[in-house]
Amino acid sequence: MTPYDAASPQVAKRPPPLVDAFGRTVSYLRLSVTDRCDLRCVYCMAEHMVFLPKVEVLSLEELDRLASAFIALGTRKLRITGGEPLVRKGVMGLIGGLSRHLATGALEELTLTTNGTRLAEFAGGLAEAGVKRINVSLDTLKPELFRRLTRGGDVAKVLAGIDAAQRAGLRVKLNAVALRNDNAAELPELIRWAHGRDLDVTLIETMPLGEVEADRTDQYLSLTVLRRELESFWSLSDIPLQTGGPARYVRVAETGGRLGFITPLSHNFCEACNRVRVTCTGTLHTCLGREDASDLRAVMRAGASDDDLADAIRLAVDGKPKGHDFQIERAEPAVARHMSTTGG
Ligand code: SAM
Ligand code: SF4
Repeated sequence: MTPYDAASPQVAKRPPPLVDAFGRTVSYLRLSVTDRCDLRCVYCMAEHMVFLPKVEVLSLEELDRLASAFIALGTRKLRITGGEPLVRKGVMGLIGGLSRHLATGALEELTLTTNGTRLAEFAGGLAEAGVKRINVSLDTLKPELFRRLTRGGDVAKVLAGIDAAQRAGLRVKLNAVALRNDNAAELPELIRWAHGRDLDVTLIETMPLGEVEADRTDQYLSLTVLRRELESFWSLSDIPLQTGGPARYVRVAETGGRLGFITPLSHNFCEACNRVRVTCTGTLHTCLGREDASDLRAVMRAGASDDDLADAIRLAVDGKPKGHDFQIERAEPAVARHMSTTGG
């Protein structure tokens, strides 16, 4: 029997798993498996990113151990992210291994956020591993604009990836970052296209994470303003889909599809936050918008037992801040780390 088995007296003695100081239960982990990516989206990465030396990045075994420790502490939903998760060598083995927690019922959902460029190759394997839904990031259908926004990407690969995912039976949600000067005018068309293919869409406001070359104040488009614009020609009705995350969902009457708005800058969504993030270096961030960090890699590499690791996770979650502190008006990024390091 391991300390994590349900029947273990150690588990039975503990209070409800991973409840922070504000009474929020943490049940959702986003785990970044790499800081690398085959694209260089302008709002996410600098053009010439310096990636981490391999030794700093958790091995596949360490990633599995860490994810499994969270699952033993009550994580019900695990999202694999990056960087681009599908460029990590061996990632399908990791996902296949983690799917054992789906089989036992310990994990409710194993999912992935991807840029879609390698989905054509991996969609079948993901479905086989028990992945049911994935998020694919796509800001534009226009090949030229896609190439510019991603600094060299080919939108046709993403579209082929989405096709493959749907053929494999995966439910796909599109994430599109709303960029005032680039895709704002195209968004209604992108939403219509997506809903026509039975894809949900979530629009994301740009967040001030990490230094990039572009001026983010310039790119920022308030989704409150965008929603008002959409409502001038569509009927949007709120739907009570509560994910514990920052997204609010509406149904678009004219397309029949679902549309989410992630507005970290215009709304405070922290009271219901059920999530934490672990970077590919094993740093636990209990809040996307703050610099709080716990080095779980150091704990693991110091030879911690499973109990020690669980205690380190508990301690970190106990310090989860009440809320974030984003302000787009600031010249400096609110948080120095890039989204590609933290994971989306
Ligand atoms: N490479 C994968 C992808 O693009 O889906 C996963 C990692 S990516 C960092 C996760 C999400 O973060 C993407 O949907 C991306 O658009 C979003 N993102 C990256 N930088 C952002 C920023 N500064 N503000 C808002 N969203 C951002
Ligand atoms: Fe890569 Fe995703 Fe960042 Fe784009 S948003 S550069 S695809 S990690």
